Amino acid sequence: DKKVVLITGCSSGIGLSLAVRLASDPDKTFKVYATMRNLSKKERLLESVKGLHRDTLDILQMDVTDQQSILDARDRIVEKRINILVCNAGVGLMGPLEVQSLNSMRHILEVNLLGTIQTIQAFLPQMKAQSQGRILVTGSTGGLHGLPFNEVYCASKFAIEGACESLAILLKHFNIHVSLIECGPVNTDFLVNLKKTELGDTSLQQVDTQTQRLYEKYLQHCRSVFQNAAQDTEDIVKVFLDAIQSPSPAFRYFTSTTGPPVTQLKVTEPDDSYISAMSKIIFSPEEQ
Ligand code: NAD
Repeated sequence: DKKVVLITGCSSGIGLSLAVRLASDPDKTFKVYATMRNLSKKERLLESVKGLHRDTLDILQMDVTDQQSILDARDRIVEKRINILVCNAGVGLMGPLEVQSLNSMRHILEVNLLGTIQTIQAFLPQMKAQSQGRILVTGSTGGLHGLPFNEVYCASKFAIEGACESLAILLKHFNIHVSLIECGPVNTDFLVNLKKTELGDTSLQQVDTQTQRLYEKYLQHCRSVFQNAAQDTEDIVKVFLDAIQSPSPAFRYFTSTTGPPVTQLKVTEPDDSYISAMSKIIFSPEEQ
């Protein structure tokens, strides 16, 4: 039997590459439901798989902010089961906090945080009933340490960490493994798709000049980090495959070992020792 995989945010970037790799698996191990908010963007994915994978790929519409579209996509899975759920859809928001509108902040939280959570919610009962499953979430180093001018983005990604850690402790008891694939900079459409305050924006003229100067510096730093250290989506896909193929996947995977020292601190305990410890404290106190 094929492993049924559903991936969110497949019109570009990491989601697209992962969908292509799994659908093109030489052993045809996977049946991939590649979902995207806007089906008119499916050409890139179709071109990348060269139309050869009718039996391993299906493309479905899913907007992670629209609960009905999540349920509709779920109901279109012909196998009526899911083995691997990949929550990958996400957007960025960059600029001084003072200029961010409530709507743009709400939107980021709706996509990155609530979108991920309500996607997981929709598939949980099925996975629990199967007593089996994998939930993989595209995490960010911006979910592990703060970044200036990314306050709300980081807040959304930190929140994902909390939601996933909490879930992992419970889902262990259902043989469902949760894994976060923590990415640093990756060459995708992320920088194009994110909502960024541009240097010429009138809103930016309204913030103090020191913030403006620091923001300009941050943007330079950001450009150079992406030029010098960004990974390709293929590198990220390899890590997803590791997690998918491992009989007992780790809770956190880091796609790259190069990173600021603050991230290294969190790298020292990347296995599931916290998950196991908390699970014991809460669920098996007699074993203490
Ligand atoms: P990307 O912009 O190419 O891909 C993001 C995808 O999410 C796009 O296809 C977009 O259409 C989709 N999406 C946005 N809103 C959606 C919605 N409401 N419903 C469904 N899909 C929606 O960028 P990417 O780098 O491939 O991003 C994938 C994930 O990786 C994101 O969660 C992002 O936060 C994370 N990430 C990216 C980087 C990076 O540097 N590129 C670093 C760390 C983490």
